[in-house]
Parts: sequence; C-alpha cells; structure tokens
Amino acid sequence: MNRADGRGSRGSDTEIGRVVIVGGGTAGWMAAAAFSRFLNNGRRRITVVESDAIGTVGVGEATIPPILAFNNILDINENEFLRVTRVTFKAGIEFVNWGRVGDRYFHPFGFYGHDLHGIAFHQLWLREAMRAGGPGAGSDIAHYCMSAQAAALRRFARPGPTAKPPLNQLLYAFHFDASLYAQFLRKIAERQGAERREGRIVKVHRDGTSGDVLAVELEGGERVEGDLFIDCSGFRALLIEQELKAGWHDWSHWLPCDAAIAVPTALTGPPDPFTRATAHEAGWQWRIPLQHRMGNGMVFASRFGDEDAARAVLLANLEGEVLAEPRTIRFATGRRKASWSHNVVALGLSAGFVEPLESTSIHLIQNGIQRLLALFPGKPISPLERDEYNRGMGELYDDLRDFVILHYKATQRDDSELWRYVRDMEVPDSLARKMELWRLHGRVFREGHELFGTVSWVAVMLGQNLWPEAYDTIADSLDEAKVAEAMARMREDYRKAAEALPDQEQFLRMAGAWAAEEMAA
Ligand code: FAD
Repeated sequence: MNRADGRGSRGSDTEIGRVVIVGGGTAGWMAAAAFSRFLNNGRRRITVVESDAIGTVGVGEATIPPILAFNNILDINENEFLRVTRVTFKAGIEFVNWGRVGDRYFHPFGFYGHDLHGIAFHQLWLREAMRAGGPGAGSDIAHYCMSAQAAALRRFARPGPTAKPPLNQLLYAFHFDASLYAQFLRKIAERQGAERREGRIVKVHRDGTSGDVLAVELEGGERVEGDLFIDCSGFRALLIEQELKAGWHDWSHWLPCDAAIAVPTALTGPPDPFTRATAHEAGWQWRIPLQHRMGNGMVFASRFGDEDAARAVLLANLEGEVLAEPRTIRFATGRRKASWSHNVVALGLSAGFVEPLESTSIHLIQNGIQRLLALFPGKPISPLERDEYNRGMGELYDDLRDFVILHYKATQRDDSELWRYVRDMEVPDSLARKMELWRLHGRVFREGHELFGTVSWVAVMLGQNLWPEAYDTIADSLDEAKVAEAMARMREDYRKAAEALPDQEQFLRMAGAWAAEEMAA
C-alpha cells in the first residue's frame, strides 16, 4: 500500500502539517493556489486529490469584482491571466424580462453618481424623478454610472491605478473559461509546491474517539492522510455531508430553480463586456461572452417546467452555432448548517449554492479561503475559531441569498406558475425588512460585511419597478436647481468618459491579453 504521509517532518503536535484538498474543480485549485502560497513555508504539505473520471461541474464562468483582490494576493500577472483563461470583462449584468416581459435594466458594478453634502445620490435622483412625474420620468439612473455607461456603449478599458474620476469608478470583474481557470491555478499551485494525487476516493477513515477524518482512501488502496481536510468535492459533499452529516439549510422554497442546461455557442460579433440574464416562463437564461465562445445556459425549476421544454426554449434563444451537446446539471439551493465540522472545511459547491443568478459562488470560495487563512487553526482545532468561521460564512451566504431572492420576489410577471409562485411567496424576515425600508422612503443600508451594497439593491429594486412611496426628506435640504446642475454635469462626465473608451477587444489586444492568435494556432 502506498502512503502519502510520512515524507518530511511537516507539522507537529500543535501545528497542522498536512492539508488535504479533496477535489480539483475551481474550489480545489483556488484553495491549493492560496494555501500553497501562504501555508507551504516548509512546514506544511498541501495535497490535492481529484478524479479525472469524475470530472468537475464545468460551469461557473462569471465573477464579481472582489476576484481582483484574490488575483492580487496570489501575485497573478493580470494580462497573462486574461489571455490564458480567455477573459472578457464584466461591468455588470443586464437583466431582461425580470420585472415585466419587455423590461430591461442593468445591475452595474460601481457607483451611482456621488453623494452631495453627505446625502445619498439615489435620494437626490429619486426627488428629481418623483417631481418629474414618478417611474419612467426624469433621467435614467444608469446615466450616472461609469460601468453602466461603458457597458451600454460596449466599451471597456481597465482603469489604471492613477485613473481620475469618473474613470476610476469603472469597476469590473471577469468572465473566464472555468476549465482553463482551474488549469491556470493548478500550475501556480504546483509551482508553489502543492502535490496532486489522481484517483477516486472510495473510503474515508475517521478517528474512533474524536470523529475527525484521518485519511481518504483511493481506489487501489492508496491512503492520503491529513490533519485538515478541505472538502471541495462539489455537490457530492463527500466529507462534510456524506461522512460528517453537517446538515443542510434548504432554500428551495425561496429559490426554486434546481437544474440548468449549459451549451456553448460560437460568437456572432465582438464579445460584450457584461453578462446577460434573460427571464423566460420557466426560468432564466445566462449569456456569458468569452474571447473564444459564448457560454449559455438555461436555469429552470423542474417543479414548474420540464427539461425538454427548457431545452427547447434555450435552443430557440441562442445567437450562434451550437458547439457542443447541451448538458444538464441538477442542483439544490441552500447551505450547510456548518461548513466547518471536525477537521473538515467545505469550500465551493460542497458548502452550499445560492443559484448562479448573481455569479456569487466563486466569490464564496474566495471568501472562505481568505477567512480560513485568517482563522487558520492549530492542533487541536479550537471550537472558537471554527465557530467564528461558521458564523461569518453563514451570514455571508444568508445575505447573498436575500439579494438573489429579491430578483424573483420583485416581479410583476403573471404569465407562468413559476413567476406567480415567487411573486406571492413569503420571503425571509431579513429581506422583508429591507424591502419595507425601501418602500417607505427609498432607504438602503449596507449591514455588517454584506457583499452587495446600496447600488446593487437600488439597481434591482428600481429595475424591477419597486418604487418607494417617498424619497428621504433630507434631500429637500439641498437647492433643487443646484442639484439639477450638478447631476447634469455628472451625466456629461460619465458619457464623455465612456465615449473615449476603446472597445474591449481593442483594449485586450493592446494589453497583449487577446488570445485570438493562440486560438487560431
Ligand atoms: P466541482 O467543479 O464539481 O469539483 C469537484 C471536484 O471533486 C472534482 O475535481 C471531482 O473530480 C472531485 N471529486 C468528487 N468526488 C470525488 C471522489 N469520490 N474522489 C475524488 N475526487 C472527487 N459560480 C460563479 O461564481 N459564477 C457563475 O457564473 C456560476 N455559474 C454556475 C452555473 C451553474 C448552472 C452551476 C451549477 C454553478 C455555477 N457556479 C457559478 C458555481 C461554480 O460552478 C462553482 O462554484 C465552481 O465551479 C466550484 O465548483 P467546485 O470546485 O466546488 O465543484
């Protein structure tokens, strides 16, 4: 029997020496890249166990801006990353048909205008719009956002560190090829000393007294022993659930979509610098442009519509030539009651899934990694540090859940069972409170470490026709004519700055980050 322990004298009685990452999807290789960078200083061994025969979920190609911070801590050369993983930029998400069929709005990264005398910009905008006659009157709030303006013109350039306003408000994230991303991170992790074991795990060995995991056993008998196990086994949740039964908070009554059909197509034009999410009768369709193809998929709720119908709607709404067989992926929405149990920390799909509407899963992996590094345990593991991790992760998941539920709840659609169900459903108290605060005076407060801030909530609520009854009267403390003048200047500044940008393909080529030549080779 081969043993993967015993080599080198890593760790000690009080120090975790062997970290075993179970799974080599996006979660596994993100964890391996980060842990080998920060924990592998001669004292710890980082091992990734993955099975080519099982493979990865193979989706997950849109991100949100904090991914830039993850690249930074890994010292990733951004242009190389852009080229190798076929990145296009993402300035936000265009939502089509969500409030009512025919509606269209943009949820941008970044800011709406800027506050005046400490008064929130959206309150000044609401005053102007309400005085002009309410919904649809006055100026478009997207005209006060750098990212939204760039996206509307299909332009993009990365603002450098010395960029001046308003260009420095152009926040962005990436669309990338998920399998190329995992390969890219694998190279980094292996260069930093992480080891890889290929094989299917067939058995888990536990300590009879503590219940901790001691080793995973591969087909053929090889045992990989560890002090800390990172469960990145995807929806299988091999250690955290199959073995440790950490428990599950089920969200399917709030987020009823439970399946997706994914299919790549050829590009029909230059890639857009944004994701599109189009609502259909039984679910919604994603459109994620990459340098070399378009990622598409239909997310649907199987209790409100069958797979054949979902596939037919997806295929009828594609723009380019289909490049591969459509693939169905089943999922459940919810999260583990504890993503850290015993000496196992779940990251990625094994820890939970909010559904892909706001592209939050990769962020949850990143956040889990950074949180674990900040709370990295000794031996024995302190319950306090473990509880702190679980408390923080739980809050993060629940906040994201509320924001995603908002997109469903705030619909006026009446054309199918799915939309009637979500429109009429009870929502979590935390979301009901937020929606009521908005309804009264358009107020939004970012709480604790919430990921999505005021701009996001305002974009979705206004975009889906939830208008407050009144604006905050504090807006009346500023002279209306002067505010109108300042707002006109802001609009002009954003428009001019957006018009001066190149299109993103041009920008990527200039940065040496366009992979077309490699693709043609
Ligand atoms: P997986 O990719 O499933 O990897 C699991 C790994 O565990 C594999 O390597 C597998 O071989 C290994 N494994 C499992 N069992 C065993 C075993 N017995 N022995 C050995 N190895 C084993 N996220 C975003 O941020 N943005 C998006 O746009 C987005 N879109 C999505 C769309 C859909 C339809 C879905 C379902 C998810 C989406 N996600 C998105 C989530 C994203 O795909 C995942 O967060 C990400 O891919 C991480 O997956 P993972 O590594 O946890 O799991």
